[in-house]
Amino acid sequence: MAPVAAIDPPVTGADRRTTTMEYTLKGAQIAGMPRRSRTYGRGRVCSHDDCPTRLSQYNKRETCSVHTGVTFPRLRGHTKHLKE
Ligand SMILES: [Zn+2]
Repeated sequence: MAPVAAIDPPVTGADRRTTTMEYTLKGAQIAGMPRRSRTYGRGRVCSHDDCPTRLSQYNKRETCSVHTGVTFPRLRGHTKHLKE
């Protein structure tokens, strides 16, 4: 009996190039849209007690990255790591 490997066509460079071009065109359309940046106020600092960390005006949180981690502990997705 002959092997059936010949059924799967090989991936050619031309196919990959076509896919990349499609992505590039879509990306260009999205990039052409006007970008509006939201700001949340300048010169804000972390709302945590005695934390002098200055917040970015693009950061919508009230605390810095360190205290945000404390406020929202990692509780999700830790039930089981076993693959079924
Ligand atoms: Zn802080």
